[in-house]
Amino acid sequence: MRKKLQSKSRTGTRSRRIVVRPALARGKREGVEFALFRHEVCSFFDGVRRACAGRVERGGILIGSYRGPHIEVVDCTEPGVADEATLSSFTRQDKRHQEAATEAWRKSQRKQTYVGEWHSHPFGQPVPSGIDRRAWRSVVAKLRVPCLFVVVSPAGWQAFRVRRFTTAADMVPLVERENGSTGVVFR
Ligand SMILES: [Zn+2]
Repeated sequence: MRKKLQSKSRTGTRSRRIVVRPALARGKREGVEFALFRHEVCSFFDGVRRACAGRVERGGILIGSYRGPHIEVVDCTEPGVADEATLSSFTRQDKRHQEAATEAWRKSQRKQTYVGEWHSHPFGQPVPSGIDRRAWRSVVAKLRVPCLFVVVSPAGWQAFRVRRFTTAADMVPLVERENGSTGVVFR
């Protein structure tokens, strides 16, 4: 019988507790890229999902570290008062996002940094708009490293990995692979 890899519900009981590190180590050998989202970050997106229906968009940055070809997301920022939000857009203006990234960089001895962004949509499936895709590509082209982007909607939340020199094929919707001790591994 094929082993079931994905938990049915992100908010339900997780019975498949395994250590995440082997998956990250295995990926390097296979030349594939994993994204690990710490459980705290997953819980935050679950909360945003439950509260975002019909509301103006929310957003922030993802903070984490690059580990070989993998990205680990350890934290994210929440909207600040200076951010501009409508039902169809979210523009980061508040300095709290940059300050959080700078503080993480300093406290982690230059390991943790900006690794991407998240924002919510007030309805529909968690799919990026054309404007989202263009914005993500321009971020990756500017930083010249792969980044993760998360869209949260009332239907769920979806992470995407965008590589440098992006074409349409370089924007990959990530699929949950393992529910580990520190977080959820996507590929
Ligand atoms: Zn969007």
